[in-house]
Amino acid sequence: MQSGKLYIVSTPIGNLKDITLRALETLKEVDFVICEDTRVTGFLLKEYEISKELFSFNAQSEERKIPSVLVRIKNGQNAALVSDAGTPTISDPGLRLVSAAINEEIEVVSIPGVNAAIAALSIAGLPTDSFLFEGFLPQKKGRQKKLKELAEANRTIVFYESTYRIEKLLNELNEYMPNRLVVVCRELTKKFEETWRGTAKELLEDLPNKVTKGEFVVLVSPKDWL
Ligand code: SAM
Repeated sequence: MQSGKLYIVSTPIGNLKDITLRALETLKEVDFVICEDTRVTGFLLKEYEISKELFSFNAQSEERKIPSVLVRIKNGQNAALVSDAGTPTISDPGLRLVSAAINEEIEVVSIPGVNAAIAALSIAGLPTDSFLFEGFLPQKKGRQKKLKELAEANRTIVFYESTYRIEKLLNELNEYMPNRLVVVCRELTKKFEETWRGTAKELLEDLPNKVTKGEFVVLVSPKDWL
């Protein structure tokens, strides 16, 4: 029996039109779609009139569900892994599945597309020749240590942040990296998309006039950047 393949498929981060033709083709052709939240993926598939078995798989269940996914692929089925938004495995589940598939000599195929960090970098106006992708900072333990370390980095730094901690992160950037240009991309690709630019202090001063709901990518200029 010839093994199937595992396709890693990027999906939109807000605007449903941001999906590639190849992603749609793949989602139509695979035997089942492995996803985080069946409602989120169900909504996307419905938009494109794709009817497919959805296999729920998230950070909590990943380890436990890997064996059954691998058996199905080994038995010849093709599977697509998607996350709720953007590229799977990037601050999202899937890494353990990908490495387990590689260990089993299953072919893992990338169907690339949207990623919030790259979208933000492309419009930030900060150096992109070299950057540090930090994703989410640890919420408690290790957070201050990490920020101190990052303050020494002479590269653009990219953080992911949520509504709940955006003000906290700006306060920390003001403390640890006060003289940098900070670029905040809120709700990329969505109706109320906007970009804020300034030092962390300037952004904090303006925060009462801003909407702080939504999803954020926060970029910080390199240490020696003018
Ligand atoms: N896998 C995704 C990717 O490829 O970008 C990232 C998933 S991570 C769980 C979610 C975080 O990504 C959000 O908290 C936010 O920091 C960032 N993000 C996702 N969509 C975004 C958007 N439309 N605008 C700004 N940031 C976004």
